[in-house]
Amino acid sequence: MSGSLLIRGATLVPMDGAPDAAGDGPLGSVRVADLRVRDGRIVAIADDLIPEADEAVLDARGLHALPGFVQGHVHFCQTLFRGLADDLPLMDWLRERIWPLEAAHDASSSRASAELSIAELLRGGATTVQVMESVHHAEQAFLAAAPTGMTVLAGNCLVDQDGPGVPAGWPSADAASALRICDDLRRAFDGKGRLRYVVSPRFVLSCSEDLLRDAAAFAREHDLRLHTHANEHPGEVEEVRRRFGVSYIEALAKLDQLGPGTALAHCVHTADLERDLMQQHGVSVLHCPSTNLKLGSGIAPLVDYEARGLSLALGSDGAPCNNRFSVLTELRQAALLQAFAEGPGAWPAVRALVALTSGGARALGVHDVGKLEVGARGDVVLLDLGAGDAAGGPRRFDAPAEGAPPISQLVWTAEDAAIRHVVVGGRLVVRDGGLDPDVLGFDPEELARRGAAERRAVSQRAGLAR
Ligand SMILES: [Zn+2]
Repeated sequence: MSGSLLIRGATLVPMDGAPDAAGDGPLGSVRVADLRVRDGRIVAIADDLIPEADEAVLDARGLHALPGFVQGHVHFCQTLFRGLADDLPLMDWLRERIWPLEAAHDASSSRASAELSIAELLRGGATTVQVMESVHHAEQAFLAAAPTGMTVLAGNCLVDQDGPGVPAGWPSADAASALRICDDLRRAFDGKGRLRYVVSPRFVLSCSEDLLRDAAAFAREHDLRLHTHANEHPGEVEEVRRRFGVSYIEALAKLDQLGPGTALAHCVHTADLERDLMQQHGVSVLHCPSTNLKLGSGIAPLVDYEARGLSLALGSDGAPCNNRFSVLTELRQAALLQAFAEGPGAWPAVRALVALTSGGARALGVHDVGKLEVGARGDVVLLDLGAGDAAGGPRRFDAPAEGAPPISQLVWTAEDAAIRHVVVGGRLVVRDGGLDPDVLGFDPEELARRGAAERRAVSQRAGLAR
C-alpha cells in the first residue's frame, strides 16, 4: 500500500506498555504527538513532524488516537439475519433459525452479508477481525474484505454431522470433502495482503471425531490457527458430556483441538480441570459478553483466565445474537459484567482496553496490530471523547483534561458516535463518521438496498419468510 499520511496533534494512547502492569501501565505513554503512516505501516511518532511533499495530513487536534480495534469473534454470514432469531436459548436459536438460514445462503446473499458486516465493523473502529463463516460461500468474506485492507482471519465452519435442526444437504458429506473446501480457501486467500485462513470447526457437536482430528492435523501441517466455539451454554455443555463422556475441554483436548494457536469463543462454563487444560495448552479466549447475556448463557470467568495467563479478545459474535456489531459496546459490557461478578476493580477498565487492542491482537496471534508503535500496521481510531452518546444526542462537555489517562471515558462512556475517523493501513476508511465508498469497494447506501432484498430472498429459501 503506497502513500503517506500524517496524523497531527492527537492524544496518542499507544497501548504499548507492559502487559501485566497494574493501573494505567498497559496504555503506554499517553501524550500529544504526530504519527506518520507510510506504505501501510507506522514509520514515525514524534513531536512536530514536518509534512512531506504529497503527504496527506489529518488534523486530529483534540482527538484521542488508539490502535485499530480487534474484533475476535464475528460471523459475517449472519448479519442479514439480524432480528430474525431473538428470544431463544442457544440450541433452539441454532436449530430453529440460524442453521436453516445459513444453509439457504447463496454466493450473492453471502457477499451482501459480508459487506454489510465490514461496513458496520469499520464504522465501529474494528480493523482486525476474526470471522467464522458458514459451510459454503466463505470465499465471499475474503473477497469482500480484501479491498478494505483490514486484517481478516476467516474460515468456513466445519460441519459434517446431521442432527436435530441441521438442514438436509448442508453438512459436508465427510471429513475429506470438508477439508477440500478448507484447502481451496487456504490456497486462494491465506497470506494474500492482510488475509489469513483459519481452520474453524463450528463446535464439537457439529463435527465427527474424524473431521476434528483431520482438521487439527491440517492446521498443524499448514501452520494455521484454529477457531471454534466452546462451553457457551449449560444445555450445550450437557450435550457434549452425553456424547463424549467427558467435559467439554477434555473432549477438545482428546480430539487435538487445543494449542497456542487455538482461540475458543465463549468459555462461559468451565470447571477447574478444564481451566487447567486451557492453561496448559495456552489457548486464547474470545469473550462475547452481549451474546452470552442475550442467549442466557452466563458470565465468563475472565479474572481467572487472565490470572492463568490466557490472552483475551472481545467479540460481537453474530448480528442475530447481539444484535450490535460495536466492539465499544462489548468493551463496556465486559467491564460491567466483571464488576458485577467479581467486584469493582477485580478486572479494572484498563484490562478491557487491553482486550480491545494489544491483548486482543495477541489472542489472535497477529503481532503487528493492536499498538501504536513504529513498525505496526497503520491502523488508527480517532475518537472525540467529548462527543455525544448518539448521532444527534446531547453533547457532553466533560472530556478529560488534555493528557489525562482517558480510560474512564473510553471504557465507561464512549459509544460509536465518538469515533470520528478510522484509518486502515494509512487510508482513511471512515472520515468524519462516514464511510468512504471508494476505499471500501462498495457504496453503503446501495448496499443497504441490496441487503434488504437478499434478506427477503434468503428468508424465503429457508422457509422462514414472515
Ligand atoms: Zn459465534
